[in-house]
Amino acid sequence: MQIYADNAATTALSPKVLEAMMPYLTEVYGNPSSLYRIGSQAKEAVEEARANIARLIGAESANEVYFTSGGSESDNWAIKGVCRLLKAKGKNHIITSKFEHHAVLHVCEALKKEGFEITYLDVYSDGLVKPEDVKAAIKAETALVTIMYANNEIGTVQPISEIGKICREAGVLFHTDAVQAIGNVPVNVQDDYIDLMSLTAHKFHGPKGCGALYIRKGVRVANLIEGGAQERSRRAGTENVAGIVGLSTALELAISTMSERAERLTKMRDRLISGLLKIERSRLNGSKEHRLPGNVNMCFEGIEGESLLLRLDLAGVSASSGSACTSGSLDPSHVLLALGLPHEIAHGSLRLSFSDDNTEEDIDYLLKVVPEIVNYLRSFSPLWDKINNENN
Ligand SMILES: *Cc1c(COP(=O)(O)O)cnc(C)c1O
Repeated sequence: MQIYADNAATTALSPKVLEAMMPYLTEVYGNPSSLYRIGSQAKEAVEEARANIARLIGAESANEVYFTSGGSESDNWAIKGVCRLLKAKGKNHIITSKFEHHAVLHVCEALKKEGFEITYLDVYSDGLVKPEDVKAAIKAETALVTIMYANNEIGTVQPISEIGKICREAGVLFHTDAVQAIGNVPVNVQDDYIDLMSLTAHKFHGPKGCGALYIRKGVRVANLIEGGAQERSRRAGTENVAGIVGLSTALELAISTMSERAERLTKMRDRLISGLLKIERSRLNGSKEHRLPGNVNMCFEGIEGESLLLRLDLAGVSASSGSACTSGSLDPSHVLLALGLPHEIAHGSLRLSFSDDNTEEDIDYLLKVVPEIVNYLRSFSPLWDKINNENN
């Protein structure tokens, strides 16, 4: 049996999305800036996609959507673009959380070297930011608040509209990395008081290398790439036409099937969580209620996450210990440490993330192999012996 349970890292390209992209990878190869037919057809496809995405995220106008190469680029552009302009006005303070994606945390670290002060908010043991903490951290110098919509490792969904409202009332700009949330939970930039929002196609069955940044009308952001007049001269470069069509098609599919999928995946998720919690000394990381429908993240004491992943791979299961960006390193996840877990427990983590393509049979199989492998690894783990001796 082969199970792909790493949909938070990336998803399979949907055949319907590929079909929509194909003409723009073949016949309609014109440059959208050219005036002849295959150019204007490409231009039309890009503008149609922009309008469709704007509608799907609740934007006021298509002009508020800018195409980028993905989530990391959108995060970089939003944060650097806003903060560097506002620094000239004496605003040199950024508020974020301890468990953001590295595309946000590392940008904040880079801005710190440029003279910014960064406040990293706690996420507590339930993996949630408290809106009142955001309110308390805002000061006259605050340029931007950037808090992710849903966490990529533990799947917790933040109280974004409350946070957005606090920022709007305080007159502070609010950016959210909505890469994991969009297509999985309802997101609306106006209802949620969002000024800037990042998304990327490959997390909802679209192609890799194509994303978007929503910039609310009137929000000033420094240009990202100087060059031609593409993206209203703010992000130059010939458009990734097929990718953009793929992004729009994938987002529409994800949102139109969202509530049905959420119901199905939530049931599967909760069955898996209850089953895996029967393993001795296991725990679920992050709130069970405020959680993406397809995310399970557990710790099993006394084992190494990496060994568990290798054994699962041999059993046909593709999973992760957390973020794809940190796997391969033996440092425990910054997200799990932010929840207050000790290093030795954070080491034994497992993230299983599901999509439309997963079935109840996948869950049956996981409920069989995960406990088997955990027991096997514990049978020769000195750490597990130590835990047992300490408790006897
Ligand atoms: C995947 C991911 C990103 C990065 O997106 P790319 O398109 O791979 O650059 C950023 N933020 C979050 C929360 C993610 O899950």
